[in-house]
This record gives sequence, structure tokens and C-alpha cells, in this order.
Amino acid sequence: MKINKLLILPILTLLFLQACKSDDKKETDTDENATVKLLSPEFDADSALAYTKAQVDFGPRIPSTVAHTNTLNYLVAKFKSFGGEVTVQEAPAKTYDGKTHRLKNIIAAFSPEKTQRVLISAHWDARPFSDQDPDESMRNKPFDAANDGASGVAVMLEMARQLQKKQPNVGVDFILWDIEDYGKANDESENETTWCIGSQYWAKNPHKKGYKPLYGINLDMVGGSNAQFTQDEISRKYAPQVVKKVWDIGNEIGYSAYFINVTSGNLVDDHFWVNQAGIPCIDVIHYSDASGFYMNWHTQLDNLNNIDRNTLKAVGQTVLETIFREQPAS
Ligand SMILES: [Zn+2]
Repeated sequence: MKINKLLILPILTLLFLQACKSDDKKETDTDENATVKLLSPEFDADSALAYTKAQVDFGPRIPSTVAHTNTLNYLVAKFKSFGGEVTVQEAPAKTYDGKTHRLKNIIAAFSPEKTQRVLISAHWDARPFSDQDPDESMRNKPFDAANDGASGVAVMLEMARQLQKKQPNVGVDFILWDIEDYGKANDESENETTWCIGSQYWAKNPHKKGYKPLYGINLDMVGGSNAQFTQDEISRKYAPQVVKKVWDIGNEIGYSAYFINVTSGNLVDDHFWVNQAGIPCIDVIHYSDASGFYMNWHTQLDNLNNIDRNTLKAVGQTVLETIFREQPAS
């Protein structure tokens, strides 16, 4: 995941715009607001944390490694055990360093017979090097990628586990993108295609002909402490109604500290490619123009010790509630 630096507005302008905005929201009340009635089952953050650990325990999920294959088998088995109809979309792929891989997007469909569906996605691969590490000698080393990868997948696993107990009105498709995070660093906008290789492939070759869910929600770095999710330019451009829906629900059910009413600039993430396939898709990502990505992004410190169950809970419950509030059009 990278920022398109060329398109980001100067921070001062954004701060100014924020200061001028006075949309007092009715539903900014939060954690103490225990009266909110959820339609969704209770998202278990400890379970999501355990799923994060399970992935980290395989080692860095770098494409074409044993850890990657073992994690693939684990994720396929898990989604199947929760009742998902699981397929793996495979294709040859080449990364910018000239290496060749077999990309594996994992797709788990719940209630496949339902025509109205929601897509939830995250990348399951780990970046092969911690090139943002403050210590230069560590920058070519792999890292655990507990937040940048594993957290989003863990939230999806826990959501899938809950779908066994209670079904929403809509069908749900979970897609785990492969080879998202193998892009060329310090690279300007002309070569964005080195990132998000799995979602790019899928956008051109959807797993089902004419696949058209109502919308998509992509999760990226959803387990860091004090995470704040801003509304990025791509999400606002292609799926403004989905941004509003998810942020409103997050605020209403007690997570206004996470789903903040702040816009951000142009991010190249998997949601961009889903939008290119004609499916409105947002990104829930720990990023702001003012502070950048999650503080341990692409460093050795992106490990399990720095995963916060409260953030997993905020995201998992909000996305689950969003799905459970969908009423299929007749
Ligand atoms: Zn990343």
C-alpha cells in the first residue's frame, strides 16, 4: 500500500478545511452509549486476536514461501469450517524485482444462493522487507506484518465465524487478496501497478462472470492502537454512500474515535482496483494525511505486541453491523 504523493493536498489546506467544517453530528456519542441495539452478533475481539496470532505464527506470509503456503491451507480450512464455499483463484504473477509467483486470491462465499451480496476484503500476503524501518540494517529483512495484512484477515475470519450463528439478509463474499504488498518503494505514481497484484488480476478476471455485489469494504491495518480511519479520496470518489453508511454506523455504535470525519488524499490500495471493476468499494485503513500510515507500517515493530484488540473490535463490529442492517431490495 502506498500513497500517491503527487495528489495529496497540502496538510495545512486540509486542516483548514477541517476547521471550517461544522457538521455537528447527532450520533457522536460513544462507548458509554450502551443502549444501542445491534442487529449483528457480538464480534469477539479475543477471537480476532487469536486469528491474528495464528497467521503471525506461520512466519511472514511472503509469496512463494512455505509460510505463505501453510497460511493458505489454514485460511481455506478455516473459512470452510465456518460454512463458507471456498475457492482459490490462481494465476502466474511477476513482481517488480523480476521474481515469478503463483498468485492465490482466496474467496469464501457465505449464503451463495443470495443474489444481493456484500464484498469484504483484505490482503493476506506480507511485504517481504521492512523498508520503512528506522534502522537501515533491517530494511531488507522480513517482518511479522501483524497489522499490515494479518489484522484485516483476522477480522474477516471472526466475522465469518459469527455468520454461522446468525445470517444477515444479504450474502457475504470474503476475498483475501494475494501479493498486495510487494510493490516498489519510493516509487511515484507512474508505477502504481507494482502494488495490489492480486486485486488487479481479479478486477480483470472476476471469479464469477457478471459478479456485482452491492458494494465492497476493504480492510487494511485495522489492528493498531488508537487507529484512526480517514475517508480517502478514492473511497469518497467512487463510493461516497458506502463511506457515509459505514462511518455513520461506526459512530452510532460507539466507535467515533476510530471512524473520524476527516478526509484524506489519494491512496493506492486494493479498493482502487475493485472500483475499476465497477463495484463501489471503500477502504478502512489506518492512515491520515497529517500522520501518514500506522506508525509501525513496514517496520520490524509491526508485530503481535502492537496489535490492539479494541481496534479489531471497533472495525469488526462496525462492518458486521453494516452487513446486518442491509435490507435486500425486492
Ligand atoms: Zn503494506
